[in-house]
Parts: sequence; C-alpha cells; structure tokens
Amino acid sequence: MNTKDIQKNNPWQRALRQLRAAVKRTNIDPLLALQLENPDRVMEVSVPLRMDDGSVRVFQGFRVQHNNIRGPYKGGLRYHPQVDMDEAKALAFWMTIKNAVVGVPFGGGKGGIAVNPKELSLEELERLTREFTRKIAPIIGPDVDVPAPDVNTNGKIMTWIADEYARVTGAAATAVVTGKPIGQGGSEGRTEATGLGGSYVLQYLLKKRKLDPKNMTVAIQGFGNVGLYLARYLHEAGFKIVALSDSRGGIYVPKGIESIGAVEKCKEKKGMLAGCYCVGSVCDVSNKDVIGAREISSDEILTLPVDIVVPAALENAITEKNAKKIKANIVLEMANGPTTLEADAILEKKGITVIPDVLANAGGVAVSYFEWEQNRKNEHWKKADVFARLKKLMDDATDTVISVSKKRKVSLREAAYITAVERIASSATPKP
Ligand code: NAD
Repeated sequence: MNTKDIQKNNPWQRALRQLRAAVKRTNIDPLLALQLENPDRVMEVSVPLRMDDGSVRVFQGFRVQHNNIRGPYKGGLRYHPQVDMDEAKALAFWMTIKNAVVGVPFGGGKGGIAVNPKELSLEELERLTREFTRKIAPIIGPDVDVPAPDVNTNGKIMTWIADEYARVTGAAATAVVTGKPIGQGGSEGRTEATGLGGSYVLQYLLKKRKLDPKNMTVAIQGFGNVGLYLARYLHEAGFKIVALSDSRGGIYVPKGIESIGAVEKCKEKKGMLAGCYCVGSVCDVSNKDVIGAREISSDEILTLPVDIVVPAALENAITEKNAKKIKANIVLEMANGPTTLEADAILEKKGITVIPDVLANAGGVAVSYFEWEQNRKNEHWKKADVFARLKKLMDDATDTVISVSKKRKVSLREAAYITAVERIASSATPKP
C-alpha cells in the first residue's frame, strides 16, 4: 500500500472529511467546528505486565475523549493488535456523532490496548485490564467518561474495570462502565441491542418508502454479536436471509435460510459457518443440493444479487474495488466505518441507499445509556421495557435523519452528520 492509500484508508482522515462536509452545510460557530476537528483529550499509557511464565512485556493503551458538550464521554475499549491513536480518534469522533444522532446525553470517547488478547491467559488479561484501569482512572468516572465493551472485550472485562476503579478511587461506581453482566448491574437486552436496533432502523425506512419487507432478500457479512442478532430479528420480521459469512467463509442459500437458530448451533459446533447447510434442524454438507446452496467467500457476499447487503464485520469492507459490483438497493452499515469515502461516492452515484453506521448500529449505545440510567437510579428494567424504549429512540432518530435528508437533498449519512452537528451546536455554551 502506498502513502496515498494509507492516507485514504486512515479512519481519522476519513472522519475529518466527513465532519468538514457536514459543517459546510451548517452555520455553526467556526470555533465549535475547530473544536470538533480536535479531540478534547488524548491519553496514551504504557501497561507493563508480568506474564504467567515470569517474563515481562509492555503494551500501549489509549483513551480518546473526543467531545463532551452533550454529556460524559462514552465509547468502547478495544483489545486488538492494530489499535492505535488514529483509529481511537476516529471511533471516538463517530461516537460523538452517533450519540447526538440518537439523542442520548453523551459525548464521544473510545480507547483500547494494542494487544492480541487471545494470546493471554485469563489471569494475564485481568492483570493487564486492572493496570490499564489504574492508568486511566483519573480521567474516567460515571459523570466524566464511561467505557464499554468493543472488539475483543466483554462484560467480564467491564466488571474488572469497575472493581479496580472502585479500589483506586474508594467510590463504588457501577455506572463507570456499561455492558456489564446482568448480575453486576448490566441491562436486559444489551446483547441483542445493536442487531435489534439495526432491524428497527431498516424497517422504519422501508415503511416510509411503502416497501414490504416480506421476502426481501438479505446478505450479512459477519456473524458475531451484531450479525447474528440482526439475522434473527430480520428473519422473524419476514425478510429472507439468503447469505451469511464469517471470517472463515460463508453460505449462500438462494431460497432463504429456513432457521437462523439451526445455523447458529451448527456454527457453534463446527467453529465456522461454511458447510452449515441446514434442512430443519439437520445441518450437513449433503443438504447442499437439496436447498440449492453453495459456499461463498466473505468478499463475494457483498456483491450477491440481493435487495439488502449488510457489512457487520470490520472497517473498510466496501471499497472502490467492490463498490461498483454491489447489486443491492440498500446497504445497512452495521459495522463501524465499513465503507471508504471513495466507495461511498460510487454507491451514491449508483443510487444505492446507504443507511449509515452512526444511525444503523446506534442501538448498542442506546441500551448502554439505559444501563447507565438504571445504575444511577438503582433500578432494573424488564427486557420488554428496554426494547420498547429502544424502538422509540431508533424510530425517532431514523425519522429525523430521513426528513433532514429530504429537506436538504443530501444522503442519509450527510443528514445524520448535519443532525448531530446542529444538535451539538445547540447544546454548546457560546464561547466569547
Ligand atoms: P464480533 O467480534 O462479535 O463479530 C465479528 C464477526 O465478523 C465474526 O463473526 C467474525 O468471524 C466476522 N469477521 C471478521 N472478519 C471478517 C471478514 N473478513 N469477513 C466476514 N466476516 C468477518 O463483533 P461484533 O460485536 O459483532 O461487531 C461487529 C462490528 O459492529 C464491528 O465493526 C463493531 O465495531 C461494530 N459494532 C458493534 C456493536 C456491538 O454492540 N457489539 C455496536 C456498534 C458497532
């Protein structure tokens, strides 16, 4: 990859270009625009760790606090070898935008550790997390900055953070993190929230366009937390899920996958989706011919002849190379940053509707906000109540983005950014 390509796919550069394009369409104070181009605070820490075998290593940790005009910084912690400051800055910025789009009273933050957690024992992972927490403790807190799980982090890790934070500060503060297990102050429905939220957004948009979801075909790239729940809820709503993939390949069943649950169980057993051709509850490669199915690569899934394609895995999945080949009418961005700027322009030219990540996958942070609220009020809400609140929030946000898009004659992505930037501006105290 040459320097130009690296620059092009640099998420922070992309975030800045998206922000500047939106700012041009508003008349916000240039000082605020500049403020949004620069995170409020970035923190880089070293996390020394004694390994189980007695050797020692050091890892780099990050926390970016992008903006807190609308409320405490909020965003995940990612444990991945490729975590770096530019990625954290872009993801923190997207959290500022996302939280404003869905109208939750949070700003944007993000962080993580450059580490492959799969190479660590559970004890090493706990020591690493606790040491990292001690380093960032002075800048987090329920009213200041509230981390959550992201790629390769989970409820258990959040519990260690809350516990270590309480030790360091002497204040038991359940609301210092979200995404906790239910017994430790987590919310009902958080696990399903991102996929379910995406299904609400898609259905609202189709209803507005007077399109019937029954039998609309869907291909989903990524069958982790987000892809799995999205597939389940869309299937339940009558969509025809025809293709699914994970990092080890995928399946294409043109007639539609009969049971998402059966595929899920098969994947659990085999460790991958490829080969999970299920007829009833029996999943076997020999069923392939019965259901007219075939294996597909993870790239091919994005260019299948379907109505809706869903990138739900990684950043930069849709690029200028494959955007031209996309046949779907709708792209539902469930991953963060799955479409490069160049690909976005190609999709727009082709008249493909892109439902942007900052709206489509905001269900997760919406329920994180409900968790934070329940912790603050010492309440525990029923799952049905959480889902009802989530639906209202996602429907309202989708409605706003669609009407701004119509009124200003811009894409849904630009409409989401304009909505967010204007909301942030209206919450800001004017600076002399
Ligand atoms: P996950 O780790 O649970 O699942 C990721 C899935 O993607 C796995 O099935 C993995 O096999 C698959 N994958 C990886 N590389 C792939 C490739 N090249 N092709 C096809 N599949 C591939 O992660 P997740 O929580 O489901 O998150 C997925 C995306 O959604 C990420 O971009 C994440 O930032 C974003 N997101 C997640 C949430 C949430 O609440 N979990 C909220 C907002 C956004």
